[in-house]
Amino acid sequence: MDYQELLNQVLEEVRPVLGQGKVASYIPALARVDPGQFGMALATVDGELFGVGDWRTPFSIQSISKVFTLALVLARDGDALWRRVGKEPSGNPFNSLVQLEYEHGIPRNPFINAGALVITDRLSSLTGDARGVLREFLRAESGNPSVDFDPVVAASEAEHGHRNAALAHFMAGYGNIENPVPNVLEHYFWQCSLAMSCADLARACGFLARHGRRVSGERLLTRSQAKQVNAIMLTCGTYDAAGEFAYRVGLPGKSGVGGGIVAIIPNRCGLCVWSPGLDARGNSVAGVEALDRFTTLTGLSVF
Ligand code: GLN
Repeated sequence: MDYQELLNQVLEEVRPVLGQGKVASYIPALARVDPGQFGMALATVDGELFGVGDWRTPFSIQSISKVFTLALVLARDGDALWRRVGKEPSGNPFNSLVQLEYEHGIPRNPFINAGALVITDRLSSLTGDARGVLREFLRAESGNPSVDFDPVVAASEAEHGHRNAALAHFMAGYGNIENPVPNVLEHYFWQCSLAMSCADLARACGFLARHGRRVSGERLLTRSQAKQVNAIMLTCGTYDAAGEFAYRVGLPGKSGVGGGIVAIIPNRCGLCVWSPGLDARGNSVAGVEALDRFTTLTGLSVF
């Protein structure tokens, strides 16, 4: 398959929707991003890399970070993790508080903010430095030693982080946060602020296409755990639009409000697409369209 040719074609086909949607506006650093940008990268399991458009431009990875923190905790905690967080789609916005009370402080899944806060809390307990361990992992997997946090984004996240603070305190009230809430929030805000390009992220999610093996060949997850992470991406990775995403794209995927989406074709490649204009549920309009076009043109999906 000529991946470069396919990516070129996808770019042509998404042109009509470029600039559609609204950039995230809850923090100034995201609100000033140019919505017309678009990039897409594909990294094969054996190390080839293809890209189109703004695929080398770093952007704020935001909730895409939740895939990597989940994998790092699952690798260490195994199934014990599922006592602290569920694995069911939420059907609610990513920052929703409502289900937490019915479920006694146990978030529905690791990809809504509440669940991601629990995962970051656990990664802090296990490693002593959640955000540092995450950055090391992403540098190694992307092959880019300059992957780093954006301190301006991190500071803005903290300043505007009232809902996340509410979620963390609420769960701490149920005994589902182990570390001091301000520490958990700080690590979470920093992890969301990581800046990476489509090229970096397509490579970094390769371990999920390689059934748990890192770029070095070393195993991070068992084959079964890699399947579990992919399954949760498929059912929960795009929040209350996960059904629509599975229907259109047919791949495990994870979005972030920076406009990025990673998607996995098991045994074949990691994909990352970025375009900052978001739909009402916080997923990139051109990003979903591009992945839809890609799987439709190639017939490559998990179905
Ligand atoms: N930093 C954002 C938040 O916590 C991340 C949300 C997202 O990307 N969906 O609200």
